[in-house]
Amino acid sequence: MLLFKKVDQLKSYLSKERKKNKTIGFSPTMGALHKGHVSLVHRSINETDISVCSIFVNPTQFDDKKDLKKYPRTTARDIDLLESIGTNVVFLPSVEEIYPQGDNTTHGFDFGKMATHMEGAHRTGHFDGMAQVVKRLLEIVEPNFIYMGQKDYQQQALVKVMLQQMKSNCELVRCAIIREPDGLAMSSRNVRLNEADRKTASKISETLSLAKQEAKTLSLEKVKSNALKRLDIPQFSVDYFEIIDAFTLLPISKFDEAESVVACTTVRIGGIRLLDNMILK
Ligand code: AMP
Repeated sequence: MLLFKKVDQLKSYLSKERKKNKTIGFSPTMGALHKGHVSLVHRSINETDISVCSIFVNPTQFDDKKDLKKYPRTTARDIDLLESIGTNVVFLPSVEEIYPQGDNTTHGFDFGKMATHMEGAHRTGHFDGMAQVVKRLLEIVEPNFIYMGQKDYQQQALVKVMLQQMKSNCELVRCAIIREPDGLAMSSRNVRLNEADRKTASKISETLSLAKQEAKTLSLEKVKSNALKRLDIPQFSVDYFEIIDAFTLLPISKFDEAESVVACTTVRIGGIRLLDNMILK
């Protein structure tokens, strides 16, 4: 496994591989790797010649600086894990490498209403920071495929729009959500939950599963109000529970209104934000 910290060195290596007609698969992460991340990298290893995984905690996508400070960092363990599964390249840049001119550049994408609700409404500037870093990483790695998790449903839908607006040949590969045995979606933030909160956190995926069942027979208004009732737990603070059109990301009121339907939620437990979603149709 090769480890690069400098943009120029990574670019030069990848450019030589590209000339040999090697395909490049890219999995961007913020580290503190778990089986969800590993599933992305595994797919990239299986489907492309060179699998690149980046570990970069991007400061510009954190609206809450306390969250940035507390974000778990386990770099040595992450590198060992990536090596053990057969990753070809790890990219571990500093903030200065990613933003040599400072981090206040604009990304120039038009997401319309896709970015203004759910995460967009609850984390000011989050998607601007996400688009800024993904654009920069795509320009550095120039992958044939980018592997992203369905776990961050809104994020990967916006990356799809970015690729279209960049007229990029890179294809987005959406990877399924990897869950703990009790259903909780794996997340780097889960380690920050105390024992009692960790137990109760399984109610999030349970609620989504019940919503999926209920959507077959009940009105979406009723499905949503039942879900909000189930999430009305003292330790929880629900940022949102939305049932959306999978393509436009806009909330819908009737199940037949959209070809594909997703329920998305974010719940704060003890100040820790946990995202989850489930495809209902
Ligand atoms: P993060 O390190 O949280 O920025 O995530 C990096 C990538 O891993 C993103 O594409 C996430 O959607 C994906 N990811 C995070 N958690 C999971 C999970 N439980 N299952 C599948 N993919 C995930």
